[in-house]
Order: sequence, then C-alpha cells, then structure tokens
Amino acid sequence: MSKLVMGYWDCPVCGAKEIRGDVTNCPSCGRARGDVQFYVKGYQEGQNLREEELSHFEQLDDEKAQTFSKNPDWYCSFCNSLNSDNAKFCNNCGSSREDSEANYFEMLQKKKEREAAEAAAQPQPSSAQAKPSRSPMKILLLILLAVIALFIWMNGNKTSGDLTVTGLQWVRNINIEENRMYQESDWSLPAGAEQTDARSELHHYDKVFDHYESVQVPYTEQVYDHDEYTLVDNGNGTFSEVSHPVYRTETRYKTEQQAVYVPVPRYQTKYYYNIWRWTPSRDVTASGDDHNAVWPEVELGENEREGQRTEAYAFTVEHIGGKEAPATYRIAESDWMNINVNDKLYITSKRTGALPFISDEKGNKIADIVQVK
Ligand SMILES: [Zn+2]
Ligand SMILES: [Zn+2]
Repeated sequence: MSKLVMGYWDCPVCGAKEIRGDVTNCPSCGRARGDVQFYVKGYQEGQNLREEELSHFEQLDDEKAQTFSKNPDWYCSFCNSLNSDNAKFCNNCGSSREDSEANYFEMLQKKKEREAAEAAAQPQPSSAQAKPSRSPMKILLLILLAVIALFIWMNGNKTSGDLTVTGLQWVRNINIEENRMYQESDWSLPAGAEQTDARSELHHYDKVFDHYESVQVPYTEQVYDHDEYTLVDNGNGTFSEVSHPVYRTETRYKTEQQAVYVPVPRYQTKYYYNIWRWTPSRDVTASGDDHNAVWPEVELGENEREGQRTEAYAFTVEHIGGKEAPATYRIAESDWMNINVNDKLYITSKRTGALPFISDEKGNKIADIVQVK
C-alpha cells in the first residue's frame, strides 16, 4: 500500500529552510506560507526509487495521513497564503474561500509565467552590440556580377597572330591482318570451327532441396520485473508514492524448420575446336612533308589481307618572334590541302578548353582543328 511522504518548504520571507509540510506558519518569522514550492528532502523531482528506498523518506502513518486532505491547498487572493482544502476560511486573514480561485498548482504556474515574462523583459546585451550586417541582397548581386564576368571571360577568344606555317606532315597507314588458327573450347561450337574433341565436364552446381532441419531461433520479450516509484507533489505539504512498472528484456527461443539444400553438380558437353580468326599483325605506313599524300604499296603474304586504314594530316606553325615553341595541329585533309609552307595564319582558342580553330585576324573561324598534338 502506497503511503504519503512528508513534504518540506522554505520561507520566502525570512529564508528559513526545511519547514515541515504540516506547519503552515514559518517558525522563524511567523508569516503564513504562500508562494512556496514543496519538496522532499534528499529527493529530486522525477527520480525513480526502488521499493526498499521508500523507507529512507519520511513516510506518514495512517493516522497522520488522514489529517491531510487529498486535494491541494487553496491560495488566498487577499493575503497570498496557502490553506488546507478542509478550511472554508483563510487561516491567516479570515477571507472566505469562495472569494479565491487559485490553488497551489495554479499559483506555481502563474509564478513561473511571471518569472519568464520578467526574464524576457531584460535587455539583451548581445543583440544590442551586434553590428549591422551587409544586406543579403547586395551580397547576392555581387556574386551574380562575378559569375557573369567569369562567364564572359571563359567564353572569350584568344587569337594568336603572327604565325607562320613551317612544315606539313601526312601519314597514311594500312593495317595487315593474318588469318591465324586458335585452339579454343566452349559449351557450344561456333560457326566455322573444326571440332577436335567433345567431353562431358562440370558446368555448374544446382542448389537442390534435401531435408528440413529444426533450428532454435532467438527472440526477445519484455517481462515485468519490478515496480519503481516517484514522489509526486500533492500541493498540501505531502507527496504521494506513485508506482511505475519496470520491464526487463528476456531472450527466448522458438523452434523453426529450415530447409537444407545440397549442391548437385551439373555436367554438359564441352567442345574443343580449332578456329581461324583474322588478327591484326603488322602495319604498312607511308608519310611525307608535301601535299602528295598516297597510300602505301602493300604486298600480301599467304593468309594475309588488308585491314583498317588510318590517315592523319598536320601542319606546324612558329611565331615570327620565336618566343613560343613551334606547335603542330591536325586538320581535315581538305583544309590541309589549302595550307602551304610560309602561309601566315591565326589560331583562336576558347578559354573554356574547347578545341582551337584556324581563324582570320578577328577570330572568325576558317577551319576546324581535329586534334592538338
Ligand atoms: Zn519566515
Ligand atoms: Zn488570507
């Protein structure tokens, strides 16, 4: 059976400490208790207690407990003192209870609200000293201008003039393929292959159901363990012991049937065969430094054929002042045919890193560059 526990209060007028809850006037200054908050000595609000710990506090016997009403004290609006729920008139000033509205808890709530309002009304030194910050619109505008400027610059061209063509290059290449025989194996015979053998070989394993097996599978359950108690302010100088159940986690096991699988080997026919494949084997190359590009003469051996053809056309330019190293550019054959040694030309490059191009003095494109060497 839960019992009442004696509460205590401190006198807000003279500062006397630890006055029992059944005392309504301060023993030091004689004032009736008013704006007080009850507490239990050695107990923090909300703290959980084991049953055996309850006896550390001042539990009231039944006879004493019956002298307290179950309800909180009422708060006299005229003299601000607390009176027992049993009293019809203020113990301190004699006013009728009917003229007062608040009880102990409402008095505490109002007190808290009043203190919060007072704290909010205090000037905040930190905000008063804060510097007026630059307006966010201004910063946004600056960032936007910077982005636009960067974009214009990136998109801009840089035209290098005073370039003289100092050389032409061309390269034409024919790759020669040889028909070679390979010895291979696979699960099927490709078209054109000459089979040399066929054997049954392990292809893969299948997981096949074999039987069921009982296994113990753990699971957890919340089990009632014991009660714990908090001491709750009754608002009349006493506290009640309020019990809360406490659970513990227990691991239990249940039996489940689990399927057991076994690996079963699967065999298939593997084919061994010879197969002829055209394979890149050598290059025949022609090159020169004039406009007379030709394909090289090809002499095919036995089991040979012509494969892929590749070609490249380029020119080299140098600055007349000679400040920069000579540069070589690849261009399409038709454009290359129009370029001659000692030509003056301009190369325009984009700052974005796109391929440069041959241009006139003002940066207008004349011909694309295929690839920068
Ligand atoms: Zn006092
Ligand atoms: Zn009163």
